Amino acid sequence: MESESQRDREISTQRQERPPLILVADDEPVNLALIKRRLEWESYHIHTAQDGREAVEKACEFLPDLVILDVMMPVLDGLQACRLLKDRQETRDIPVIFLSALDDMETKVNGLAVGADDYISKPFRVEELIARVAVAIRLKRERDRLRLSAEEASRRAEAASEKSMTDALTGLLNRYGLQRSLQRELAEARRYGRPLSCLVIDVDHFKMVNDTFGHAAGDTALMQVARVLTEAVRGSDVVCRYGGEEFLVLTPETKLEGALALAEKIRLDVASRFFGDGERVFPVTLSAGVAQLLSMESAHDMIARADEALYHAKESGRNRVEACRQD
Ligand code: GH3
Ligand code: MG
Ligand code: MG
Repeated sequence: MESESQRDREISTQRQERPPLILVADDEPVNLALIKRRLEWESYHIHTAQDGREAVEKACEFLPDLVILDVMMPVLDGLQACRLLKDRQETRDIPVIFLSALDDMETKVNGLAVGADDYISKPFRVEELIARVAVAIRLKRERDRLRLSAEEASRRAEAASEKSMTDALTGLLNRYGLQRSLQRELAEARRYGRPLSCLVIDVDHFKMVNDTFGHAAGDTALMQVARVLTEAVRGSDVVCRYGGEEFLVLTPETKLEGALALAEKIRLDVASRFFGDGERVFPVTLSAGVAQLLSMESAHDMIARADEALYHAKESGRNRVEACRQD
């Protein structure tokens, strides 16, 4: 399904490509018709409004590239309408030009203070109006273009950063991606005095799997093991491909016994399945080491102790789980 931001982007791009749209608001029908016709000669698309409220409503509906507001209008005057447009997120960036017979300094200053971009005193020469409209539209389009390319650049940077944290084969976090989660979970555990544990899991005799069934079958098995892991854990747990055939699971709010139980569940689940691509299926086992964070130790030290426990599991015959208990 199309995402909302993608739709917004498409709308912005379409807006860049269409002829500029101008909303003109004046309570004097003769003025309105005159300005409309003159600007249409310049190939602008024009919407009109006869009071300030209608101007605000149409600006919200059509999102024009420019709003030209007469200052003295019924219902809402030009200053009030301008203030409303500048208060709304969706119309804030639309330039506003005031058009008014009031040529006193105070009204001009007020107009600019509520966010107008320009001011033209009546009576005006049509050439002046057209020149000022052209400048306002050009600046608006340039701003929109810059905003679009800045958004595009930040989207790309985000996607690249996400990609650099993800393991291409399994879709799990990679070792680099784990660091952020590790820092976050460590900080949470310390702040609220909550337990944090980890599992270091290594596939047994995986070199033999590759040697016997081929590297592609080995890759398939790694993806399947990754799926077993993600299905076994809780939403708040973090699963990472820690190395070639080694995985790490971070379990917030979990004591050693709970982490051991999870490791045992995963071990049994893997041991009860077949792996491979359908033509060549084979059993896989794994060994795991588990540790709970001690009060004074770093996350790195906790992982090192889980790794040590994994080593003992391998030494004791594989397809088993060992805990590193606090000495
Ligand atoms: P142990 O039970 O002691 O862990 O034995 P092992 O054979 O699993 O351990 P070893 O470290 O000797 O070998 C790991 C193997 O995992 C060798 C390596 O080629 C394989 N491997 C690592 N990454 C990948 C991968 O992405 N795809 C495949 N197919 N194999 C991988
Ligand atoms: Mg191994
Ligand atoms: Mg290994």
